[in-house]
Amino acid sequence: MEFNQFADSALSSLLETTKFLKEITDGISDDDGEVRKLLEEGANSRLEHAEKIIERKTKHKELVQEMQKARGESTTVEKFGRTWNERQDAVERKPINAKNTAEYQSFKRSIESTLSNAEPEANNSDDDVVATEVSCNSAFSPYDPWTKALIRNPVRNKMCRHIYDREYVHGLIKNNIGIRCPVAGCANTVYIHPAHLIEDEGVRQKIRLQVLQDMQSDTDDDEEEGTQEEVEQEDEDED
Ligand SMILES: [Zn+2]
Repeated sequence: MEFNQFADSALSSLLETTKFLKEITDGISDDDGEVRKLLEEGANSRLEHAEKIIERKTKHKELVQEMQKARGESTTVEKFGRTWNERQDAVERKPINAKNTAEYQSFKRSIESTLSNAEPEANNSDDDVVATEVSCNSAFSPYDPWTKALIRNPVRNKMCRHIYDREYVHGLIKNNIGIRCPVAGCANTVYIHPAHLIEDEGVRQKIRLQVLQDMQSDTDDDEEEGTQEEVEQEDEDED
């Protein structure tokens, strides 16, 4: 995870630099287009840099997955060592085209929209790329993946179907474009955009049910009435 955090902060600072330079140069008169040219050249080289980071990230992710697989398949430490070495070599040899990743595409769009003063779009091609890639069916959890607190107002990420606390995720992505689904093992690598987050009444019901079940199993000694009251209290707070 540390590696990913480092890579993500490098990517967001590449974007921040682009935004900053754009802001500065907006105030300069640029009749011959020289400033614009410099700005674009700089943005292009940052984009190349981002491509390398994303390539490294993709490999890192595959390595982590392969390590988990090797661990699951190996019954002894020796066997794990052998399997892991083989898998590692295979990942390193495999060519990766970072430009084809949804993350690169999304980063590129952010750079482009920065240069053109436009708001980044919730591009529909995102959905297309991810819809075919994402196949993660982790267990349903009524807890927010960042705060680990019980989700009060759920939103579902339509890219990967994971759910988050609405207020928390919106606060998070408001100030940072480089936020991805934090659920471990989630195959969705696209930065979360407000347009990806949808209300889902089914999810809301499911959370309530799960909370009720958790309470009943956690508080076996407590009286049933007490549990029921607490749940009703929750409902009131939500509405
Ligand atoms: Zn996800």
